[in-house]
Amino acid sequence: MSNEIPTFTPPAPTFVPPQQSSSNGNSCYYHQNEQAVAKCAKCGKPICQDCYDTYQVTSGEYAGKALCYDCCQEIVAENVKELKKQRRTIIFNYIFTALGMALGGIIGGSIVSSSTTHTFDPTLIVLLCVFIGGCAWTFALNVLRVAKYTLEAMSNGEWLGAVFGLVLGFFKSIFLAVWGTIRKLFYYTKYIIKTSGFIKSDSNCLQEMKDYMEYTMVRSRNVGVDLATLMNEGSELYNNSYAQAVAANGEENAESRIRNCVTSINENGEIIRSFAA
Ligand SMILES: [Zn+2]
Ligand SMILES: [Zn+2]
Repeated sequence: MSNEIPTFTPPAPTFVPPQQSSSNGNSCYYHQNEQAVAKCAKCGKPICQDCYDTYQVTSGEYAGKALCYDCCQEIVAENVKELKKQRRTIIFNYIFTALGMALGGIIGGSIVSSSTTHTFDPTLIVLLCVFIGGCAWTFALNVLRVAKYTLEAMSNGEWLGAVFGLVLGFFKSIFLAVWGTIRKLFYYTKYIIKTSGFIKSDSNCLQEMKDYMEYTMVRSRNVGVDLATLMNEGSELYNNSYAQAVAANGEENAESRIRNCVTSINENGEIIRSFAA
């Protein structure tokens, strides 16, 4: 063995929050100088008071429980994914309703043009067909449900139930198709308007939270170093939006911004989870 000690200096680390690990269990996973006060309810990482206060969610499975930065980011990302899925469902419904209306219009038009007696106002007939066409999609789905019920009743030998189910189900299907379609279109449209800015604001919040985490990690690694130094070109907080907010408006202001951010992702998440297709 020689006494030569290798003088390798590792390159400055690039910021990747999930990869820093302390893991003696007593200090925060992200902030090694901070005492852990809780374990993340989702993944079990130990977290400090600031992490505990910052990354909590107020609705859903983990409402009010300790949550780490990574799991909070994950939940917000899942919300965004869920919202995108809901939008596809809504657009799908719009398209089918519009197709039904168009088809209804065509059928109505051909009825009007082929009939020789004009007992009813032709415009009214076309409009009625457009309306029925718009509801047809929901009606068809309801009829399928009724058919399934009737077949089940028949296979169980419940003939009376099958007949009643069929007759009642048919009328119920008409009612539900009309009422359900109107209600659904209103609800969907309201929902689309309500959630219109969510993806953008949640994505911004994810970035702000990431910058905040980077800021707190760098500061806890560099105790005693002033912020301006850490923000110099080439330093770790150069380009960090949270550091810039602190430098411009003070710690308190920047902190309230991050709290607002978390509040807004929580509120958005609650609305996204309440969606009833
Ligand atoms: Zn976690
Ligand atoms: Zn922490």
